[in-house]
Amino acid sequence: MSALFIKDGDFPAFVAALIEAGPVYGPVAKRSRFVFEQLESPEELRLEYDVTILPPKKLFFSPAQDLLRFDGDKVEGTVAPVEKVLLGVHFYDVKGIDQTDLLFSENNYDVNYMANRETTTIVASNVQNISPRAFFGSVGADVPAKGHDASLTKIGGGYVFEPVTDRGEALVKHGAFQQATDAQVQEAASVNAEALAKCPEKHSADDRTRADKVAAAFDNEALWSELAEDCFSCGSCNTVCPTCYCFNVEDTWNVDAKSGQRTRYWDACLTPDFAQVSLGEGATENFRDSRGDRFRHRFMRKSVYLNEKLGQPACVGCGRCSAACTADIADPVKVIDRIMAS
Ligand code: SF4
Ligand code: SF4
Repeated sequence: MSALFIKDGDFPAFVAALIEAGPVYGPVAKRSRFVFEQLESPEELRLEYDVTILPPKKLFFSPAQDLLRFDGDKVEGTVAPVEKVLLGVHFYDVKGIDQTDLLFSENNYDVNYMANRETTTIVASNVQNISPRAFFGSVGADVPAKGHDASLTKIGGGYVFEPVTDRGEALVKHGAFQQATDAQVQEAASVNAEALAKCPEKHSADDRTRADKVAAAFDNEALWSELAEDCFSCGSCNTVCPTCYCFNVEDTWNVDAKSGQRTRYWDACLTPDFAQVSLGEGATENFRDSRGDRFRHRFMRKSVYLNEKLGQPACVGCGRCSAACTADIADPVKVIDRIMAS
């Protein structure tokens, strides 16, 4: 599919036409920060955002998602996916979506996540401003983002729009696009390459070396205790992460004691009760009882356990966890540097 160009002056009308055609979600300002929300007007769209508070996975896998209603033996699903456009996703978040797409579709196919995912047209956008803790330039560099339907890159005078699927191509009719020139395509490629080099943080070793070093530190209990010494076990580093996908399922019963609903909630492996299981008769066992054990588990998942399946670390370098941690101990670059120095 060939690259197109839309002038700055024509862009708001394109976004307005998309909003007219159906729900459009994109980055909007929330006080001094940004969130993905449904757009009411083109003026709300803030494509120059640095990073959003929560990743866009919340549109497919929301923090609290009703799954079904039951009434005696009668059960009905409650997921009602709506065709929508998700506009302005940075490439590292597309990579996060690529990972959750795989994890929710292999083995036990998750109809709830996938139904929402399959009804979403994703338009990626280039990183115009880089958040202070980002390190996406030095993680999974050889694995390109692939889950988007089109990409949008800001260059001088407008945007280069590159459809990559039929869904992306179908958006073209809404805007005053023209064929992009070779020079415009070249400028877009340079803009995207430059963003990688501008990350304020950078891993000091490649993905394979980091995985080996983190795996080799598994038994270093003193190190994990030291790393987790100031951890509040709040789980914020999990909840802001685009690649975390653990959840808890709860049934809520109505007063008739036969009807109710089933809901799933984001869960977080840094919280104390995540690994607590029942032994029956009121007894429980927690197989990751200490902060050090939980902290280690997060880094093993991100850097080691999932690498083979994903072909890259389960971290896309967004820096959200570093910024969200009150104790400032969650930064993967700093933690892995410390492990490598041990
Ligand atoms: S571990 Fe941290 S930096 Fe990596 S993807 Fe998750 S939130 Fe982003
Ligand atoms: S955000 Fe920081 S304090 Fe909270 S659980 Fe994660 S590492 Fe611990």
